Amino acid sequence: MRATQVVIDLAALRHNLARARAAAPDSRILAAIKANGYGHGMLRVARALEQADGFGVACLAEALQLREAGIRQPIVLLEGFFGADELEAIARQHFIPAIHNTAQLELLEQAVLPAPIAVWLKVDSGMHRLGFPLTQAQPAWQRLASCRNVSAVVGCMTHLANADNLNDDFTARQLADFRRHTAGLPGERSIANSAALLGWPDSHAEWVRPGIMLYGVSPLLGGRGGQHGLKPVMTLRSELIAVNHLKRGEAVGYGGAFVCPEDMAVGVVAAGYGDGYPRHIPNGVPVLVNGRRVPLVGRVSMDMLTVDLRSQPAARPGDPVVLWGEGLPVEEIAEHAGTIPYELLCRVMPRVDAIESGG
Ligand SMILES: *Cc1c(COP(=O)(O)O)cnc(C)c1O
Repeated sequence: MRATQVVIDLAALRHNLARARAAAPDSRILAAIKANGYGHGMLRVARALEQADGFGVACLAEALQLREAGIRQPIVLLEGFFGADELEAIARQHFIPAIHNTAQLELLEQAVLPAPIAVWLKVDSGMHRLGFPLTQAQPAWQRLASCRNVSAVVGCMTHLANADNLNDDFTARQLADFRRHTAGLPGERSIANSAALLGWPDSHAEWVRPGIMLYGVSPLLGGRGGQHGLKPVMTLRSELIAVNHLKRGEAVGYGGAFVCPEDMAVGVVAAGYGDGYPRHIPNGVPVLVNGRRVPLVGRVSMDMLTVDLRSQPAARPGDPVVLWGEGLPVEEIAEHAGTIPYELLCRVMPRVDAIESGG
């Protein structure tokens, strides 16, 4: 069997949820588990996080999958609904959409539903992605509150654009603007993603919405999960499937992108971009072989990549390899790849089997 797998540490997930609780002790936790639980498997994440107060997903299909699997917590549709045809299922399953624009509001007013639904009002406090403009928060609230299809407006929600940068004062401005324009409206407030949960305690309010930190990853620029007491949940692991003893001047892989500067051993790892390891990552990126760092060399191919084994001349086929996770922070790999850990985690391909540990 191909050894390339992700190990999903459920104990680490629960530990990270406890860290989120400790950091925001007065807030309820809406765990963001969209995009297949950030690549970790949405259902296994939801089951492991049974202590969460609710779950946040991106669309109805994700929410239905959770309900069909018996998940009973409140489920918030963070982008609301994408068409009036979704409203009946939302009403029947008691999903809570975030209503973010006038088009959604009108569809909701015109719908004929089996029962009225609870909604969040989403307000744009400066990110300029989703939400009613600040100046429309009050009238939008009034319209929702008087809509016959709305049983309750749970509260006002907004999203922060720059919370991952603790030196950026835009966050304080968003917080102040959101407060000012929603002052006097009843209900709860929800502002904080992981970065705000850890870095901007002022943002906590009634509901925090952590995602990435639950998976053990630092949400802060240049940060590492370990600095916040988080434990990595996903480890992408594989093994050596060949070790080649090459002569000085011999080239490795497509395009001969790496030329051996001396006689040396080069290991072939059974993982590539077809598994979700980024193809454009540069030479020199660390890979763990037998728990010790070696540099990646040559081009990443679909099913394989190659590593410099000069520091481990005795390494052999079958030796264990870690591409990120336990012992090798995904934050570090993402920095080398010019992306963010979120993308690497989400992009692990379906052919990579997941194994649970810490259950
Ligand atoms: C995904 C998402 C979150 C979680 O963000 P993290 O940076 O992963 O903590 C919070 N709020 C909304 C609206 C989201 O879409």
